[in-house]
Amino acid sequence: MSQNVRVRFAPSPTGPLHIGGIRTALFNYLFAKKNGGDFILRIEDTDQNRYVEGAEKYIIDALNWCNIPFDEGPGKEGKYGPYRQSERKHLYKKYAEELIQKEFAYYAFDTAENLDFHRKDHEAKRKTFIYNWHNRLKLDNSLSLTEEETHKKLNDGVPYVIRFKTPQNQKLQLNDIVRGNIEIDTNILDDKVLYKSDGMPTYHLANIVDDYLMEITHVIRGEEWLPSLALHKQLYDAFGWQAPKFAHLPLIMKPVGKGKLSKRDGEKLGFPVFPLSWNESVGYKETGYFPEAVVNFLAFLGWNPGTEQEIFSLEELINQFSLERVNKSGARFDPDKTKWYNQHYLQQADVNILADSFLHNISNREIPSHFLNKSYVAQVVTLIKERAVFIEDLWNLGDYFFITPENYNEKATKKQWKEGTADIMKQVTAIIEAISDFTSENVEAIVKNWIGEKELSFGKVMPPLRLVIVGDMKGPHLFDIIALIGKEESIKRIKKAITTL
Ligand code: GLU
Repeated sequence: MSQNVRVRFAPSPTGPLHIGGIRTALFNYLFAKKNGGDFILRIEDTDQNRYVEGAEKYIIDALNWCNIPFDEGPGKEGKYGPYRQSERKHLYKKYAEELIQKEFAYYAFDTAENLDFHRKDHEAKRKTFIYNWHNRLKLDNSLSLTEEETHKKLNDGVPYVIRFKTPQNQKLQLNDIVRGNIEIDTNILDDKVLYKSDGMPTYHLANIVDDYLMEITHVIRGEEWLPSLALHKQLYDAFGWQAPKFAHLPLIMKPVGKGKLSKRDGEKLGFPVFPLSWNESVGYKETGYFPEAVVNFLAFLGWNPGTEQEIFSLEELINQFSLERVNKSGARFDPDKTKWYNQHYLQQADVNILADSFLHNISNREIPSHFLNKSYVAQVVTLIKERAVFIEDLWNLGDYFFITPENYNEKATKKQWKEGTADIMKQVTAIIEAISDFTSENVEAIVKNWIGEKELSFGKVMPPLRLVIVGDMKGPHLFDIIALIGKEESIKRIKKAITTL
């Protein structure tokens, strides 16, 4: 590629980014990095009515958390800035006027009430009102008015919009990297508003002008923008600019049923739809997801490597990513798979990092202070992490490493605690008391040796011993637990069970 690849993620700061937005950002990032190009963040905030305080910061925080930083954008000014459209306001008017001069656009003075009347009137007749070639000469605009009338309105300060004059009877040939060639009949298109007399461009004009001025080579965005492609292509042609290449990413679909994934699906089925928390909606980060897991599962929403490999680091994704391997059809969101990815990344994570997070997690619990040290916690984590999806799960999997069991599983007690068990446990206490080299292997060897000498069955000793140490029948190798909690704690637990059971 001779031209330096430049792609942009262009969210509107109207609220938190849904993970679909992060997926779009990720694909842009991967494509840029794969091609040695630049990834730009542009904030499309021309619609002041929909502006939400804090949304821009949220977007930037979310990208940073996912480790997909932008090369240029707000706060990282490059030579194409500013990167917020509200700060570029002054740029757009002349482009709107250029289109009028070239007769690709016109002034329209129709009032909101008048347009509303037409809309309702059409609805009543079960039709849709479209403002275009078939009715524009009957509406209030510079094509239906004389030149003098138009000038008078402009001079009198009558509010106007500038509309694109969509040509009649043309077949537009569009190309999309994901979808291939698309033909559109211009007769079905409406004359979209490009600019308003309040000095604000609409999304379409600002987006095209900025992509041009920022020398964007590839526009990678969600499928919901595909219907805008026809207009965008015509705008590039009208200006005489070379259009970037387009790739529209497939929709992310609900886990079950039809339709796009929504915030409500997350609420109903109990999974996050936002990368970070926003008001009462909990994010992936706060739920305990690793950013690597989020990036990995998002990469698979609409892309696949064409092999069986499912686990990809960001580096590997960059190496293997291509727009040609992006699918056309909707990508079904699978919350179980996201957990599967997280479980994988938890197993891979450095145990010291896991220990730190787990320590932080349990810091408000009542736990004897000698258990609250990193080396102990790291050993516990190593023993129990296998079944953990989140750091938070570690507590349920291994609370007995930190607190003496208060209760004993009822069913297990019935089954394991028989006549004579208390007596056996007393003997075990004595055996354990006498061990000085308190490693798992040594305790195991001595206890098992004693069982053999006494001609006891393992079933009479080991299950009740687990019950009194753990409070339940769960957990890793019992002697690992005993060795880790230590001699004193083990004896305390056995004695406690003898008196309570
Ligand atoms: N501002 C649009 C959005 O909110 C950008 C669409 C595009 O990438 O062209 O997604």
